[in-house]
Parts: sequence; structure tokens; C-alpha cells
Amino acid sequence: MIEFDVKLADQRKPAGEREALLADPGFGQLFTEHMVTIEWTKGEGWHDARLRPYGPLALDPATKVFHYAQELFEGLKAYRQPDGSIVSFRPYANAARFNISCDRMAMPRLPEETFVQALELLVDADRDWVPTREGHSLYLRPFIIATETGMGVNAPSARYLFCVIASPSAAYFSGAIKPVSVWLSTEYTRAAPGGTGFAKCGGNYAAAFVAQQQAVEEGCDQVVWLDAAEHRWVEEMGGMNLFFVYGSGAEARLVTPPLTGTLLPGITRDSLLKLAPDLGIPVSEEKISVEQWRDDVASGALTEAFACGTAAVITPVGRVKGASGEFVIGGGAMGATTARLREELVGIQYGDKPDPHAWITKL
Ligand code: PMP
Repeated sequence: MIEFDVKLADQRKPAGEREALLADPGFGQLFTEHMVTIEWTKGEGWHDARLRPYGPLALDPATKVFHYAQELFEGLKAYRQPDGSIVSFRPYANAARFNISCDRMAMPRLPEETFVQALELLVDADRDWVPTREGHSLYLRPFIIATETGMGVNAPSARYLFCVIASPSAAYFSGAIKPVSVWLSTEYTRAAPGGTGFAKCGGNYAAAFVAQQQAVEEGCDQVVWLDAAEHRWVEEMGGMNLFFVYGSGAEARLVTPPLTGTLLPGITRDSLLKLAPDLGIPVSEEKISVEQWRDDVASGALTEAFACGTAAVITPVGRVKGASGEFVIGGGAMGATTARLREELVGIQYGDKPDPHAWITKL
């Protein structure tokens, strides 16, 4: 256990002001009153663990993160339970993925218990900011940046800053759950074998904005990334993994692309691979091409598709558009299997359903 030096904000926001902000928080727009920081120095390891009032970081313009993007992050949520307590969903899985990303980016690992301890401390300081409204949550954003000063590019940074901030948030896609439309990106590539696709580094997202802009220009909500070599095999979306439902009712089964190293191993994805069999829905990890997606929708074999992730939870995909045309899935509405999985997952997260896999961790 690392010792944190705790200094709370002198003046807390009045309850009335806080409640007004929490009434309509948006997603990732509003931040709580504190943050956690821990520093790492070569030869010394992790030190100076702190909880401080939320505020700007002062960094030299020559700090490595600004130039070489040695940076990565995580994303998970804290959920208010019916009894008022606060939990998070599989935080140790995020801690483990954080360290896998650290290995790829030549950054130091953070002990998993320190990662979770930092979340606990921040949530405890800002408990009143954890929303109570249905579907709202406190989005937690741990990240680590290279803080050594200097432009040398021969070695990774010798100093790092780990930081956690928290953002009370409404649903990622606002309003009632409506299916999203997706653009199949054949001009751009997100990740190639040997690259950083499996790591949650900021560079992956920086390189994706141009494709997201293109998706919007094409009248779509989100990008679907395809494999680098052929732009044929479906990988994932900008911030979500993809699932396909074959068959329907008692015959429904789930298919999702395998973790080839070029897509992010989503914790929601992993949870659904475990949860669906509990509900009698078989799962398999299989490659699926764009042609197969289109043909199986046309033949009626593929009945639903949905995106899943911490922010988006489970969101149906209604329309798919690419350079060679477009098609609609399930009449553009949310399918029954998607709805059932969503209800089960959200039920576990918000404490309305049993948690057979012990995914819920009290904060
Ligand atoms: N893919 C990408 C590219 C993402 O950014 C995310 C969000 N972290 C996901 C998938 C879903 O991962 P998770 O279920 O862990 O949120």
C-alpha cells in the first residue's frame, strides 16, 4: 500500500450548485473537485502519491509527452447503488490492461492495488459527485504521461506522472437508446500487426479523428475499423468493440472478432463473452468480413449488431455504410438479444441484478 498525502479543497462547491451541474452533466465535460497524482522516477520508482484539489498541471514545454506522445489512459465508471453505496465494475481488469499498455509504451507498471487505491481515494473525496440519476455514473479517467524534459528520442522518459480525474456523466449517446450508424473506413487504418492497437495509448485516438470526421461527413455516427492489410476484416469501432447476433430468440448466438493484437481488449467485450452463456446465448470469437456481414444480413442469418464499451454500454448498430454502398440491420431498431444483454449488464452495474462473477468492487 502506498501512502497518499491528502489535501482537500479549502472550499467545496455548495450543494445547490453541484446538484444543478449534475442535472445535465453531458459526457466528459464536468469534473469533480479533486485529483490523484503519483510520480515515478527512474532509480526511485513510484513516489509522491497525492490527493489534491482538481487543477492545471504545470509542465515545461519540452516535456516528452508533448512531442512523442508517450502517454496512455484507462476508462471505467463508478456507479451509485440502490442503497446509496458506490461501486465500480472490474477495476482490477482496467488495472491489468493499464499495465499491458505500459509494457507496450515502455512505461513503468503501476501495482494493480495502487491503481485501485487511487480510484477509491478519489471517489471517497468526491462521493457527492457520483450521480444518482438513472443511467448516469462517475466516469474515472486514470492516465500516465512522460514528464522528463528534453527532446532526445533515443530512450523512453525517465520520469512519469500518473493521474486520475473523475467526470460525472450522462449516457455517451444522449437521449433514448437509438441505433448508431457506422462508416466502414477503407481509406484509413487504425492499427497494424506489431503496432499499438491493443494498447490504450492516446496516439491511437489522435490518428483516428480524421476517420471519425469522415464518418460524420458521410452522415454516420461512428467509424468501423477494418484490418490494415486488406480493409476487409471487421475489427472494432472508435471507442467500442463490436458484436454480431446470429439467429434469434432461443437460437440466438453471439460472434465477435478475435483479439488479434490490433484491437482493444474491451472489458465490456470480455464481460459479455462470460455473461451471454449464463443467459443461454452461445458465444464465439470469429473473424467476420464486410462481405459476410452484408450477405448474412441480406439472408437474414445475422439479425442484430451492437457496439459495446464502458462509455457506450451496449448500443445497437442500425445502418452500415461503406464506399460500395450501405445496408440496414434489423430494420434499424434495437433487437431483442441486444436489449436483453444490455439489461443484464446494466442491472449488474447498478446493483439491480445478482453479480455471479464478482465483478462489482465497492469503492
Ligand atoms: N475499443 C476501443 C478503441 C476503446 O477505446 C474502448 C473503450 N475503452 C473499447 C473498445 C471498449 O473497451 P471497454 O469495454 O474496456 O470500455
